[in-house]
Amino acid sequence: MIYLNGKFLPMEQATVPVLDRGFIFGDGVYEVIPVYSRKPFRLGEHLSRLQHSLDGIRLQNPHTEEQWAGLIERIIELNEGDDQYLYLHITRGVAKRDHAFPREVTPTVFIMSNPLPAPPAKLLVSGVSAITARDNRWGRCDIKAISLLPNILLRQLAVDAQAMETILLRDGLLTEGAASNIFIVKDDLLLTPPKDHRILPGITYDVVLELAETHGVPHATREISELELRTAREIMLTSSTKEILPITQLDGQPIGNGTPGPVFQQLDRLYQAYKLEVMRG
Ligand code: PLP
Repeated sequence: MIYLNGKFLPMEQATVPVLDRGFIFGDGVYEVIPVYSRKPFRLGEHLSRLQHSLDGIRLQNPHTEEQWAGLIERIIELNEGDDQYLYLHITRGVAKRDHAFPREVTPTVFIMSNPLPAPPAKLLVSGVSAITARDNRWGRCDIKAISLLPNILLRQLAVDAQAMETILLRDGLLTEGAASNIFIVKDDLLLTPPKDHRILPGITYDVVLELAETHGVPHATREISELELRTAREIMLTSSTKEILPITQLDGQPIGNGTPGPVFQQLDRLYQAYKLEVMRG
């Protein structure tokens, strides 16, 4: 069952008019929220980021936090599986095609749930491969916009190369993955680029930095050069659906000794323990 504009209904019965600005312009924002043991993970943080995205496109939030929490609770109940991931999607609504904002239009609100499988254990042991590409996205990558054409094209490069992710470089600096944030380990220091308009402020990124802080893993947020990326002892990606994954090959070259490193292993252990704590909480 999905939620669309005030109604809960089967996916097959859900339709949106062709003049929806999401369809016409990609004029909208979204969120992806993992659910573990039927509890949304870091809900407050996801809803704050949604507000940031809505502010970024000057679209009024159609719901209060309490209303969102209620809709989310209901969607979780209506769908099977203890672990799910929720997709929230808000567009500027249906209006005659014109670039400028329409007046007095009601936003389209859509929520769906999908099963959330645990990251395959095999990948945590072997690591995954990634390729690099030039980050040719726009200048507001901090907005979780539904217009994802550059991300789609960049991610397909990885699929074509039988890799898991495309790691992006802008002006010789690491930004993020096509659908993930990136961390490296250099001289025993966990490093990731700072949160600014060049990257999506990842919720998992925040959890990893918090865990590093709490558990004494030396870390810093700063710009990372292409050379530092290529010569890193470890590289890992983070996202709500993939959690933390070790990248052991970059553009066909091994990273470190080509197997997941100790910092990844420590962070993954901490992340799994933290998830359990939150679910029990
Ligand atoms: N960066 C991009 C471009 C993403 O699409 C995503 C998530 O899909 C992330 C980073 C990771 O964000 P989060 O940890 O909130 O899932």
